[in-house]
Amino acid sequence: MEREEYLVQMKAVIIDEMQSPIVMFDKDDKLLMYNRAAGELLRVQEGVLLNDFIQDTNLRYILTPERRHMGQTKEFHMATHTCGKAFLIHGKEQWDSEGRYQGVFLVYDDITDQENMKEEATYYASHDKLTGLWNRDYFFEIVAKMLHENPDEEFLMIASDIAQFKLYNEILGMRAGNELLLNIANNFRKVRKKGWVFSRMTGDRFALFMPSSDFEEEQFLEFFDKVFEDDKYTLHIHNYIGIYSTRMCDEKIDPEAMYNRAYLALESIKGDLRRRVAYFDEKMRIRRMAERLTIDELERALQCDEFVIFIQPQVDSVNGRVIGGETLVRWQSPKRGMVMPSEFVPLFEKNGMIIKMDYHVWELACRQLAKWKQEGHGDRCLSVNISAKNFYLTDLYARITGLVEKYGVEPQRLKLEITETAFVLDVKQQMELVRRLQDYGFLVEMDDFGSGYSSLNSLKDISIDILKLDMKFFERSVNKSRSQKIVTSMVELANRLETPVIAEGVENQEQIDFLQNIGCRVVQGYFYSRPMSVEEYEKFMETRESEDIRDLIKELKEKETDEWEF
Ligand code: C2E
Ligand code: CA
Ligand code: CA
Repeated sequence: MEREEYLVQMKAVIIDEMQSPIVMFDKDDKLLMYNRAAGELLRVQEGVLLNDFIQDTNLRYILTPERRHMGQTKEFHMATHTCGKAFLIHGKEQWDSEGRYQGVFLVYDDITDQENMKEEATYYASHDKLTGLWNRDYFFEIVAKMLHENPDEEFLMIASDIAQFKLYNEILGMRAGNELLLNIANNFRKVRKKGWVFSRMTGDRFALFMPSSDFEEEQFLEFFDKVFEDDKYTLHIHNYIGIYSTRMCDEKIDPEAMYNRAYLALESIKGDLRRRVAYFDEKMRIRRMAERLTIDELERALQCDEFVIFIQPQVDSVNGRVIGGETLVRWQSPKRGMVMPSEFVPLFEKNGMIIKMDYHVWELACRQLAKWKQEGHGDRCLSVNISAKNFYLTDLYARITGLVEKYGVEPQRLKLEITETAFVLDVKQQMELVRRLQDYGFLVEMDDFGSGYSSLNSLKDISIDILKLDMKFFERSVNKSRSQKIVTSMVELANRLETPVIAEGVENQEQIDFLQNIGCRVVQGYFYSRPMSVEEYEKFMETRESEDIRDLIKELKEKETDEWEF
């Protein structure tokens, strides 16, 4: 083989084996040659014309005959995206010695990976790695821009923090915790509104910036419920919300300071599962002072016996009999009228005075039971609330047994409601305490079952006599059939554990029907009655019979062996 011939052949082989696609067109813009890579990556077809081959309008413009004849395109570089990849094109025209155009060849360099890396870098400069939401820094940048562009509009900076998020991680594992956060981001993408900016700050903290004109508290909470809905584990996620309005004060502060203030507001309600929203304002500090005043006032009220009990009946919906009543505290203030517990119980819980207040309520309950016994109504029962502080920090056993002894009350008549969230910590020791209380004769109820995180977990360790399931927790859910499934399985589980369920917050016949259907017959709620004064309750009871919940427990035990044998 001639050396020349060999060289030509080798050139052809090398070109064909090159990684980069190469295409060559002749002076009539007909395809002259292309290599294998061009066939594979650019899907070049035999006989194609230059104009049909080139999809990129910029490249088409570069290669128009007019520009070509003006000699502007002898050699050029340009980037293009085609066939799902990024390329850098190197083009070179061929002209003969007499200045006649011969053709053009194009070499495509695949730069997809570099592009991606560059994109990724810019992506993560502004996005949160886990959720893909705006990250903290970029969020503040967007907010600053929005404020700048809309100087006259009022905006809200909203901070959100999930209650006891670390429990999700501990109980379900880190991966599940991450999934939960990702799910929140995806939910937001589904329900977001124009002009709302959502960001993940750190961990389980999110921030939302929105026009104030879009805000109406109730609707907003519904929106937030949707965002924080967890459809995988169907957990009830309680998140605290702190709100700062850009109109709250005249001074100009930057977005980060706004967020900090929103968060400050949030912190004021953190730990109180009954509260969700708090607003920041400059008067907060002053209000704290006022709070202290109220505490003094409350202390005085406690000494002056201004706290009284209201009673809400718990009714067996099957036969209308009353199994007992829950005592709920009210403050009869000569100055303010009747004050509801939501206004002072959280305060007392914070400063520890709940210990005294609870004791006062228990004493009122015991006194009432003793009085009824004397009047021939020894079958009536009352349940009292026991705050987590009392459960953990005091000698609950000594104090409560002391009380029933003092008033000669049978312990079976006084039921103890301990909130589910109190069982989160230190279960072993509390299990022991619960057992001692039960051995003494008290019935122990788990209050607000289903609201928190311990639910199923704690049930395996603690044998509770009665579960109180709050329908309000399920009402808030967007997905009705789903929450009905949860309630159903909770009741089923409780029944299997031979533990009767009292459904709280029952307001209508539909709920009664549903609950009876799934095997829950005892209900407490506005459907039968709101909490009443003692006198009203006595009147209510005149026409009703009492029923012993222990009979229901017995019934469940018998059922257990009858029906549920595997
Ligand atoms: P809780 O123990 O879950 O009490 C039930 C609350 O739900 C009561 O509110 C009751 O009025 C309300 N409720 C009952 N039925 C319905 C209904 O059908 N619909 C709706 N929407 N609500 C219903 P209340 O009396 O305002 O008490 C609020 C909370 O304050 C109680 O929640 C309890 O945690 C606390 N509390 C009340 N009294 C005491 C007490 O003596 N000691 C302690 N530690 N906490 C108390
Ligand atoms: Ca209760
Ligand atoms: Ca409750």
